[in-house]
Amino acid sequence: MASGRVGKDGMGRRGWASGRANSSNPIDNPDHASDRIIVCQDCGSPFTYSVGEQGFYGRLRLLTPTRCVSCRAARKLKYQRLKDGGS
Ligand SMILES: [Zn+2]
Repeated sequence: MASGRVGKDGMGRRGWASGRANSSNPIDNPDHASDRIIVCQDCGSPFTYSVGEQGFYGRLRLLTPTRCVSCRAARKLKYQRLKDGGS
């Protein structure tokens, strides 16, 4: 009973594996296509650098961000104030 089950399962797996290799994308999971965790340079808290952002930054040829979203926004505000003349 048990040996029969094992043999059947082995054959089934082999058929399933070859079928899957044919139908699915050969490049299943490239190294860069996963979310990365980066520690913010300013506040030291970790933030997620997502696959979508990596693609966006790559297309614009931007460097990997070193600051979290809120610190980036804060810096932007600071520069805008300086440009306006400051008060
Ligand atoms: Zn930060």
